[in-house]
Amino acid sequence: MIVIIIVILFFIFVTGKIEKHEATRSSYALGTLINLRANGNKAKMAIDKALERLNQIDDRMSAFKESSDISKINFNAGNKGKKVNNDTYFVVKKAIEYSKVLEGTFDPTIRPLVKLWSIGTKEEKVPEKSQIEKTLKLVNYNDVIFDDKNNSIMLKHDKQALDVGGIAKGFAADEVRDIFYQYNIKSALIDLGGNIFALGSKEDGSAWKVGIQNPFKPRGEFIGILSVKNKSIVTSGNYERYFIKDGKRFHHIIDPKTGYPSESKIISATIISDNSIEGDGLSTGVYIIGIDKAMKIIETIEGIDAIFITEDKKIYKTSGIDESIFTLTDSEFF
Ligand code: ADP
Ligand code: MG
Repeated sequence: MIVIIIVILFFIFVTGKIEKHEATRSSYALGTLINLRANGNKAKMAIDKALERLNQIDDRMSAFKESSDISKINFNAGNKGKKVNNDTYFVVKKAIEYSKVLEGTFDPTIRPLVKLWSIGTKEEKVPEKSQIEKTLKLVNYNDVIFDDKNNSIMLKHDKQALDVGGIAKGFAADEVRDIFYQYNIKSALIDLGGNIFALGSKEDGSAWKVGIQNPFKPRGEFIGILSVKNKSIVTSGNYERYFIKDGKRFHHIIDPKTGYPSESKIISATIISDNSIEGDGLSTGVYIIGIDKAMKIIETIEGIDAIFITEDKKIYKTSGIDESIFTLTDSEFF
């Protein structure tokens, strides 16, 4: 009898293992490296669907693709509104919400300035001050006009342009999560160029471990580890895309008030939230707004926490971050 039970248990154990599939895939979309890892019987199919969806989002929201919704809005700036897909409408609406919460430090009309600097491209340069001042006048999130009835978006003035690069990856990560749910995936790691969604827990039931990059060190060296289940983790930092000119670092997060890369003391802003669009939308702006306001704003938003690193290697944590969530591993930081 016991032998039979053991055999049955063994069988369940073995077939259970055979049925559980882990699939992993790397790809390129939304201007960044995508890494997807999912556990479940339909993991491969789920990943195929997710990659399809990412390309669709890219086609709709890229500022570089002429046929994208964003380009259509930009081409018609100062002229007329353009009807866009629900995805795009939702993302631009959200972007403006965060612009308001973050007092305009986050501003999706930043595109003319981003283009002027062209950081991360072959054309990157420090622009003339006069050019910056002129371009700065085009940046104003209050000039985005929505028509809810027709799903159309218009920019008030000629030459204004949208760039949802600071928030689209968060939206995309949430969409991948939802696709994974549809395929009954209960454990997955969604990594869109560092914009991470840790779905469920690891297969053994333990929390996902996600490192926070040391801003002063090569990629993969962490200052600490986050342990999370079913959370989004998004970091904005000055170490991802930048160039150095005359010993000065010019990174890709532009302060819409000055027209220059943000000079706040924050060098890394990590947002831990239930939805990645919140994390992405908030991380870019809080990075610019400065440590005191950043802490205050995040504390007032229910269900969202943050870890900031300032240039003097100080770490600031909001009240929801305790030892069970974050372990500091680099003693140079305090
Ligand atoms: P990453 O894309 O490197 O993960 P972010 O989410 O912080 O980083 O977004 C940076 C991108 O957002 C820039 O490459 C640019 O396209 C856009 N951007 C830069 N400055 C701003 C800003 N102040 N507000 C909104 N978007 C911005
Ligand atoms: Mg962002």
